[in-house]
Amino acid sequence: MQRSKSKSAFDRAKGLIPGGVNSPARAFGGVGGTPIFIDHAAGPYLFDIDGNKYIDFIGSWGPMILGHAHPKVVEAIQTTAIKGSSFGAPTEMESQMAELIISMVPSIEMVRMVNSGTEATMSALRLARGYTGRDLIVKFAGCYHGHVDSLLVQAGSAATTLGVPSSPGIPKGCTADTIVLRYNDIEELKNTFNKMGDKIACVILEPVVGNMGLIPPSSGFLKELRGLTTQFGAVLILDEVMTGFRLSAGGAQQLLGIEPDLTALGKIVGGGLPVGAYGGKKEIMAKVMPSGPVYQAGTLSGNPLAMAAGIVVLTELKKNPPYEKLEKYAQRLEVGLREAAYSSKIPHVINRVGSMWTLFFTSTPVTDYDSAKLSDTKMFSKFFWAMMDRGVYLPCSQFEAAFNSITHDDAIIDLTLKAARDSFAEINS
Ligand SMILES: *Cc1c(COP(=O)(O)O)cnc(C)c1O
Repeated sequence: MQRSKSKSAFDRAKGLIPGGVNSPARAFGGVGGTPIFIDHAAGPYLFDIDGNKYIDFIGSWGPMILGHAHPKVVEAIQTTAIKGSSFGAPTEMESQMAELIISMVPSIEMVRMVNSGTEATMSALRLARGYTGRDLIVKFAGCYHGHVDSLLVQAGSAATTLGVPSSPGIPKGCTADTIVLRYNDIEELKNTFNKMGDKIACVILEPVVGNMGLIPPSSGFLKELRGLTTQFGAVLILDEVMTGFRLSAGGAQQLLGIEPDLTALGKIVGGGLPVGAYGGKKEIMAKVMPSGPVYQAGTLSGNPLAMAAGIVVLTELKKNPPYEKLEKYAQRLEVGLREAAYSSKIPHVINRVGSMWTLFFTSTPVTDYDSAKLSDTKMFSKFFWAMMDRGVYLPCSQFEAAFNSITHDDAIIDLTLKAARDSFAEINS
């Protein structure tokens, strides 16, 4: 497959933009080689500037659940743009968006729009701290919540560690109040709350993790979390930036039956435009300025173009819930991938919840960050490039989830499975 134009575009970009990209995951650091530069996209397909066509399993890392360039979304953006793209003053569309979110996400009674998932989690944290008057926050190793200083912490071990920043430029003070625990570890969670539960402002987590590869919560983990946070008066924040409107119309919280105090949203909520949102119980949300004292603001928040795109997507998902269909096709894909991997005798684990999935190159169950890290990333890279050469664009890291859209139908799954069988055969030889 010819990719020379992408190569020169990347060389040019590297002299202008750090690493040639505006977000690190795009640089193909996890698989080596050169990222493809996109010309356009339609439905399940991406077209690069060399004229190659790929079946896309990233979907802009989650937002494109209706497929690329959905006609209704394109039309909404066009008709809105003609009327002006930003006013810095309220529009009725913002209430329409808020009404939609509140009607779909069970625990949200009031919501504030922001411009990214990072802003949503950052603001939810501040609100939780402002509301409780406490400082400590609990997160889980391997969960990603955007590039918020106090959340950019990983734990290297199972031990309960007070956070050490995982990026230069974050003062120790920023993470000193961040406690990092092991995902799915109920005992560690209980011990932590019993020791210092009355100092914990909030617990933040991905209810189904997408950011260490796909990892579902164990039965009992979320229930215990809800119980402990309620008992100790801590705010439970579900980061549904990835899972919101993806795993069901009401997100992971509806699918799994857990009621958080606050929810962070992003990705799908903007229909492919830069949007985030945080919302939850009225009593807590009322503390946000100007109705309350907790400061949070944004020049472009609730932007008309973004509202228009998001409203169309959410309305579509509410009116014609595609979740059974997404489940059916994703399940077919999972079964087919497993068969292909088995016959190649390459160790593998496939984790999947609805239309989110990861093929891990490991032989042991993947339930947390440590077990995810046992994966053979070299084997993953080989498989990734073998699939690329056959026109299938997977997430360019072992530790990212893949996404199906409603345009990934039987024909697309067939093509993908054929590519997978050939790819497994190639990397096994
Ligand atoms: C993508 C993501 C974020 C960050 O959202 P941005 O829009 O990239 O700032 C936060 N949390 C989760 C779970 C995400 O998947």
